Amino acid sequence: MINVKEFLEAVNIADVVTASGVELKHDKACCPFHSERTPSFSVSRRKNIFKCFGCGIGGDAIKYIELYFGLDFKGAVQWISDQFGLGVKIGGGTERESREKRAENGIERVLNKIYMQRFKHAEGALIARFRELHSIINEYHPPRGTDICDFPSEYVNALNEIDRIEYYCDVMATGTMEDKKDLLANEGVKSIEHRYYSAS
Ligand SMILES: [Zn+2]
Repeated sequence: MINVKEFLEAVNIADVVTASGVELKHDKACCPFHSERTPSFSVSRRKNIFKCFGCGIGGDAIKYIELYFGLDFKGAVQWISDQFGLGVKIGGGTERESREKRAENGIERVLNKIYMQRFKHAEGALIARFRELHSIINEYHPPRGTDICDFPSEYVNALNEIDRIEYYCDVMATGTMEDKKDLLANEGVKSIEHRYYSAS
């Protein structure tokens, strides 16, 4: 088996991330492991690791390739070696075992992809609702000095709702996978999604 420390020293995390197809800008990118609008994924060339401050995922180049391509440890080492011509040949494991493992990882990756799409879908509806509420608030904004009892109900309701929607948008942008899955199951979010996509 290879010396993992030496193996990792032979490659730089930034090159590995780039080779996987993720484009880095100033060593940062939108995280490939969670859905986000502003980049919280970054690499440290000096420490030779990656880290996402959005979802908390991080590690070395082997870990990155394991996660990104759904490979096991050996598979990730082999991938990096092939990519950078390091000449590592890893046998090991029966043919059937590795095929099953690959299938398992493949399923997980597909499931993750599906979730990413569902998160994007929900986020789109939430952002649209946020904008809608924002314009209701502007439209019904009572003049200065209006007694609170005389505030238009449209205005009051929109104010109440917009805080919640803003919180949901935040979760969708920066929350963990589990938080976001909870949100997909939330009745309020579901009805906003339903209303938005059946109207458009
Ligand atoms: Zn992330």
